[in-house]
Amino acid sequence: MKAALEVQDVTVRFGGVTALDRLTLRHDRGGIVGLIGANGAGKTTLINVLSGTIRPERGRALLDGRELTTLPPHRIARAGLARTFQNLQLFGSLSVLDNVLVVDRDAAPLLDEVGLSDDLEKKPGELAYGRQRRLELARALALRPRVILLDEPLAGLAGSESDELLELFGRVRDRGVTVLLVEHDVPSVLRISDRVLVLDQGALLADGTPGEITADPAVHEAYLGQR
Ligand code: ATP
Repeated sequence: MKAALEVQDVTVRFGGVTALDRLTLRHDRGGIVGLIGANGAGKTTLINVLSGTIRPERGRALLDGRELTTLPPHRIARAGLARTFQNLQLFGSLSVLDNVLVVDRDAAPLLDEVGLSDDLEKKPGELAYGRQRRLELARALALRPRVILLDEPLAGLAGSESDELLELFGRVRDRGVTVLLVEHDVPSVLRISDRVLVLDQGALLADGTPGEITADPAVHEAYLGQR
């Protein structure tokens, strides 16, 4: 079977900084894959390579065996890979409903699923921040993705909002969508992920279940121990 996501020997450099260093990884299908690592480890760069906003100088990325690294971002989205952004990218002048309708006509059930059915006519700016995050998730789901990349979705959220959002991610996984979760809130990542990848200086430092990652001395030395 072809892997849902595959990264083969990917290198990205910004001037003298190597953000990804011949990175190779593969995820067969399904579940929540947590991606953690210190500031500058290359997490966002990896998401940008997968979603087509950065082209690697070496290597390639594949979705269900189809090469992504030659496609523009909108074609990648249509091919089944959706993403959210560290800084929300909602249409401020459109209603909540229209923000999702621009992607898919069947917007109302999706908004209901993320708990926004009472907010359809509001503008995104009228929603609490946690609800704006839900709207972004609904818009990504409107692409009917097979893989969804979440870039620091819990940043700036209160504990209760964060728990509710994590529960939603669990439901997305249960629909069979593969979730790649990049997040600084390590306890939350360890709690919800089926598999955890640890990046360090653009390379894979560790790869395992949350239990294996927590027990890995190399992870403690390079990352967890410093927190
Ligand atoms: P953070 O947790 O702080 O978001 P990260 O793991 O997402 O970090 P990246 O943002 O991918 O890390 O950055 C990896 C490295 O590449 C860092 O050294 C960063 O300074 C550098 N970098 C990323 N984007 C650029 C850019 N557009 N121009 C120059 N350097 C960049």
